[in-house]
Amino acid sequence: MDNDALITIIVAIAAVSLTVLPYYRRLRKKEVKARAKFQELQVTGMAAASTMHPHFDALACIGCGTCASVCPEGDVIAVIQGKATLIHGSKCVGHSLCAEACPVGAISMVMAPPGRSANLPVLNDHFETSVPGVFIAGELGGMGLIKNAVTQGRAVVDGIASRPRSTGPALDVLVVGAGPAGLAAGLTAMHHGLRFAVLEQNDIGGTILQYPRQKIVMTSPVEIPLWGKLRLREVRKEELLAVWHEILQKTRLPVQTHERVVDIQRTEVGYRVVSSAGNYDAHHIVLAMGRRGTPRKLGVPGENTGKVMYRLIDAGAYRNSRMLVVGGGDSAIEAVAALALQPGNQVTLSYRGKAFTRIKSRNATHLQQLLGSRKLRLLLESRVRAIGEHDVALETLQGSQTLPNDYVVVCVGGEMPFEFLQRAGIRFHRQMVAESAGSPDHRREIPSDSMVPGTHGS
Ligand SMILES: Cc1cc2nc3c(=O)[nH]c(=O)nc-3n(C[C@H](O)[C@H](O)[C@H](O)COP(=O)(O)OP(=O)(O)OC[C@H]3O[C@@H](n4cnc5c(N)ncnc54)[C@H](O)[C@@H]3O)c2cc1C
Ligand code: SF4
Repeated sequence: MDNDALITIIVAIAAVSLTVLPYYRRLRKKEVKARAKFQELQVTGMAAASTMHPHFDALACIGCGTCASVCPEGDVIAVIQGKATLIHGSKCVGHSLCAEACPVGAISMVMAPPGRSANLPVLNDHFETSVPGVFIAGELGGMGLIKNAVTQGRAVVDGIASRPRSTGPALDVLVVGAGPAGLAAGLTAMHHGLRFAVLEQNDIGGTILQYPRQKIVMTSPVEIPLWGKLRLREVRKEELLAVWHEILQKTRLPVQTHERVVDIQRTEVGYRVVSSAGNYDAHHIVLAMGRRGTPRKLGVPGENTGKVMYRLIDAGAYRNSRMLVVGGGDSAIEAVAALALQPGNQVTLSYRGKAFTRIKSRNATHLQQLLGSRKLRLLLESRVRAIGEHDVALETLQGSQTLPNDYVVVCVGGEMPFEFLQRAGIRFHRQMVAESAGSPDHRREIPSDSMVPGTHGS
């Protein structure tokens, strides 16, 4: 070998060492970090998704990481062992940008992880359920995102308005829920001059109200009935809610807030809807209830403020904060564990019981570890009495106590919407995804008259 060839080889080896090796080291470091995060999120129950999320075909995935880099929600996907992995499912909102960006089509969007059922209601092309006259719009039907919810809410009521009108005192349509789907349905009913009512168990806004403070919401332009095109693409949660309030003020859409629908009964002319405040007769019902259900509340002063949440979506959004978690089940312990891992948090767990008798053994171990490491203050046999702007008042075994507080997470159970639908007699599919399924074509839809209440993917 002559000198020139030797020099060329040495230069080539040096170039590889200087460029490729640092690149692989960086990748390796990233993966180690992602693995640790994934393990932490599995422990705290945050790795699982609760809405539409990506499913990766392990055989097709080339581990390029494009999906992870395009996800606007942050560390939702990571490449582990050369394959894309959903590591923070609870943060996924189902934009499907990852699926669109995947260069080999290895991503399909699903409602439930492989081998699990997703409790999707059977709907016809007009979003009508198996119960004639009862429709579903928005995320409850299986399609997430604000734009989809608005489009479906509008389409459902356009369809109802095209049917022959009935006479008599019953409403033409009753809308349950005032999230994006319910508000669009109500505005469309108003546009068509239908007799209608919109009932909302909480405040106007739906799931948007539950987003972390200042969250950037990604959406696409969408037509709002009686208002025009909503041209927002990236907007903060607070600004989006302000726009919705402006729309409602301008259109004067009547929404009955803090009124929960508890039952639907069949009558001779249509349906009787039973709410926490009264009964309504209606020919058509639009269920725009979302998939997050009705959390049980504490019923204490100060509970209806932005600092109180009923589900912890992103523990990482809460740092250096004084957190109170209320409850004695697995979700309370998982919330506590996730919050205690964030830097600077002071976490207190309040439970009215004497001991944790119905939690998984895994969570019991975490609880002991947290108590042993003094990362958690536990108040057994305690009750929250009031929630203030910067504190919480509790009744404890030692008497009344007031703790400094920034946020409260209430995990005391509730009802999932599927239980409500089941009572109304609505039939469900069970979406099953085979373990190696890659494209939507591989998804199997298994019709079923029954479903597993209270769970996504049980
Ligand atoms: C953290 C997070 C971030 C997200 N970010 C984005 C984003 O950036 N872009 C995007 O497009 N989407 C995002 N989404 C998804 C989006 O918020 C939902 O897809 C959308 O809100 C669904 O609208 P909906 O009207 O179908 O249901 P919801 O918004 O869930 O509204 C349902 C309403 O029905 C009410 N209700 C339920 N049961 C009853 C009852 N029995 N009686 C009366 N009222 C009842 C509820 O209180 C609620 O107000 C995000 C979701 C989450 C959790
Ligand atoms: S669906 Fe959206 S939020 Fe979920 S992982 Fe893909 S890009 Fe991220």
